[in-house]
Amino acid sequence: MNKKIFNAIWIVAIVVFLSSLIFILGVSYDYFSKLQMRQLKVETELAVQGVNMSGQKYLDTLETKEYRVTWVDANGKVLYDTKADKAKMENHFEREEIKEALDKGYGESVRYSSTLAEKQLYSAMKLDNGSVLRLSIVQMAIWTLFVDFAQPICIVMLIALILSIVLASRISKMIIEPINNINLDNPMEHVNEEKYEEVAPLLKRIHYQQEQLKKDKEEIHKASLIRQEFSANVSHELKSPLHAISGYAELLENGMVKAKDIKPFATKIRIEASRMTTLVEDIIHLTKLDEGGAEQVWEECDIYKIAENALDSLISFADEKHVNMELKGESTTMYGVSKLLYSVIYNLCDNAIKYNVENGRVTVFVESLEDAIILRFKDTGVGIPDDAKGRIFERFYRVDKSRSKEVGGTGLGLSIVKHAVLLHKGDIKVTGKYGEGTEFEVRFPK
Ligand code: ADP
Repeated sequence: MNKKIFNAIWIVAIVVFLSSLIFILGVSYDYFSKLQMRQLKVETELAVQGVNMSGQKYLDTLETKEYRVTWVDANGKVLYDTKADKAKMENHFEREEIKEALDKGYGESVRYSSTLAEKQLYSAMKLDNGSVLRLSIVQMAIWTLFVDFAQPICIVMLIALILSIVLASRISKMIIEPINNINLDNPMEHVNEEKYEEVAPLLKRIHYQQEQLKKDKEEIHKASLIRQEFSANVSHELKSPLHAISGYAELLENGMVKAKDIKPFATKIRIEASRMTTLVEDIIHLTKLDEGGAEQVWEECDIYKIAENALDSLISFADEKHVNMELKGESTTMYGVSKLLYSVIYNLCDNAIKYNVENGRVTVFVESLEDAIILRFKDTGVGIPDDAKGRIFERFYRVDKSRSKEVGGTGLGLSIVKHAVLLHKGDIKVTGKYGEGTEFEVRFPK
């Protein structure tokens, strides 16, 4: 970049210099041409005085290496010419400067001489006897001016080149240095410094991106901690049913169980095994949700119908627990993944039954508002203490660990619910008084 800025600056300097040089040469050329014409006029005046006094004799004595002298009579006939044979010369009456001189006493013009094939300056003056004397000179060519000025031009160019290189190198350093000195750990510290005025937007962007990176890093760190904690919890949760199963199996194997106890032992093994199955299923479910539920099918779902199905499959469990279930509300559809919506309703109803009391009630409301669909799950169960309300959605969190285990909970149900609700851009709230019951409200925006 330094090199690029350096090159750009000195090239610009040289281009500007050369263009001004060409312009100055043009202006000078014009000035010198006018000067030449003025001199020619003076010479013509002198020559006219000479001829007025001495006639052609004067012309014969003239030293005219540079000038061409032509004398024509009042009709344009050439009487005398220093460069061409007067006999062969055409009548000059129509020549612009001669016509003007005959008319006004003096005339001048610039043109290609058809006789000498060069650009000529002409100056013509009327004599006392009515004839006209004309002096002409080859106009100085621009390259002559250039050749004359070659030496000073070269010197000035050299100076300009050296100056522009020195300046370019200094300016490019001045531009680059502050950029190299930016404190990337805290770019905002330069924002109010004068030399960073122009790069303030860049500093702000760097700052913004760094903050973003920091946030991303923190999130990655948090996610990795959560994952570590989750893996530790998973292995711990899997270990206890496995220990129980292998303990019971060992007793059976060693013949330490009386024949009448074999059946209850087998039941215990089956319960532990089914607990493991549920746990593994929940973990798989949650992992899939973590991956963004990519393979899920999104469609219009009848949420009331889904609630009916979930309640149907829980009816025998509710009967077993002596809990009454009721579904209220209206049929309404929403765009979502029906499998996930089912698991939201199933898990919340399952909990409402699990943590209920003898002869308790579970009521589910499905309500369609203008901008949202509301699902409410109300139970008359044990309730959740206020300080635990914020934590129940955490993985493996249980308010009462032994009760949860006793009823076959995994501690993952509400995490799955929350995840699925968030995937549908909804939110979930929990209310209710500890000891009196719980109410979950799920809101899906339309
Ligand atoms: P679990 O498998 O233990 O039920 P969840 O994630 O579904 O796990 O619930 C977490 C904890 O929240 C439960 O262990 C329980 O203590 C509490 N909980 C959930 N739902 C209810 C409810 N309807 N009434 C009382 N407590 C509940």
